[in-house]
Amino acid sequence: MYRPTLALATLAFTLSIAAAAEPQPSSDAYVILVSLDGFAASRLEDEELELPNLRASARSGAWAKSSQTIFLSTDHPAHTSIVTGVQPRLHGVLGNRMHNRETGEYFQVTNKPRTESVKVPTLFDAAKRKGYRTASFFWPENREDPALDHSIPLVLTGEAKADISAADPAFLQELRDNDVFIDFFFAWYNDLPLQTTSDRVLTRAATYVVETYKPHLLAIRLPAMDRYQHQYGPEHYLAKAALTAADYNVGLLRRATETAGIADQTTFIIVSDHGFHTIEHSVNVYPLFAQAGLLEEVNLHAYYLSVMVELTERFDPQKHLQALDKVFERVAELDGISRVIRPYEFASFGLPSYEEDVHVRGHYIILGGLDTRAVVDEGSESTRRTPLSAPLHGHGYLPDDDHMDPVFIMTGNGIRSGVRLDRVHILDVAPTIAHLLGLEMSNQSGRVLSEALTDPP
Ligand SMILES: [Zn+2]
Repeated sequence: MYRPTLALATLAFTLSIAAAAEPQPSSDAYVILVSLDGFAASRLEDEELELPNLRASARSGAWAKSSQTIFLSTDHPAHTSIVTGVQPRLHGVLGNRMHNRETGEYFQVTNKPRTESVKVPTLFDAAKRKGYRTASFFWPENREDPALDHSIPLVLTGEAKADISAADPAFLQELRDNDVFIDFFFAWYNDLPLQTTSDRVLTRAATYVVETYKPHLLAIRLPAMDRYQHQYGPEHYLAKAALTAADYNVGLLRRATETAGIADQTTFIIVSDHGFHTIEHSVNVYPLFAQAGLLEEVNLHAYYLSVMVELTERFDPQKHLQALDKVFERVAELDGISRVIRPYEFASFGLPSYEEDVHVRGHYIILGGLDTRAVVDEGSESTRRTPLSAPLHGHGYLPDDDHMDPVFIMTGNGIRSGVRLDRVHILDVAPTIAHLLGLEMSNQSGRVLSEALTDPP
């Protein structure tokens, strides 16, 4: 169980003095950043889905036909790219779970304090520097974040439950005292039949903070859609119902800005981290390494839907490189494999190389095609693309497929009405929010979406 140490308590005290001494910001602009986890851009145009609040937001503001996520198109790297505006190579969050090959530690990156998990400044840091009030609800990598005034941090127990002991007890008690039944969020999180209700409780906590404190920057991630789509597939009626439940939560947040009297000054930015795909096949790459006699020279690690190839100390480029290149040629020709990412290509895919970061598990990545998972099966000699016993619903592929594209909508203060953007990038979110709130963030990889703004830079 997490308990603040004396040093942390002292730091918090010092920070609160510093905060009290800061000048009050003069800006009256507010941004609410909502992540609908796993909500693909294409769903907005699926007429079977009940999405009244999202569609009204899109009509009154700007929305993108699609948006591009990062590689790996997965939860924590993508959410951290959204609030930092840079690729995983720079912010350092390379997966939901990460492995340190020097210490052998295998860990949930979001369970580390924010100062350890993310290497670059976030929007929250920039807002706090300006003296703004900030809030975050279950956004990844926000544990013990000194830039947050109100926070339900995403910290997980060993059973993947939301860890209530990581939240500030005083904030939890304040919510309870104001009829926000926050304990149910923790009790019902990751409990499939109850997870949309859990999202609703989290939203209620956020609306309480909007109405009571009017934070300039509030971020909330609604996770139920991700879970339902993983479990049932994106086309299942329960997954669709989870999307509609999330739409309702967006409506609650919009109403909260009206209650708070800040509706006209608030911009809503509605994003996601990835779409979904159904995977029905696997292909085993192990036999090709075995046939080439390279099993001592490489370690093969399953890496989401791909395989990472790590060269061992026995690998001697003079002796083995030619054989390895031959294996990769054969791998790339397998039915169901999309490509091999080579060491010099990692940076162009937004990833650090093996030498740059101890959390990178391999020198090469073998990527499955969209409906195929690359696997390592030592017990099989076949490299034929094989149907899975049950389909798998997931994400993590290259972000160049439509199915992977996350939703993107902006509406409200500072946003032109009736703008249809073509393809944006999740790296554009942070610079655009920074512009709307007048924040300073340097070295951003994305761009301000000027064409959607009433007052572009
Ligand atoms: Zn996700």
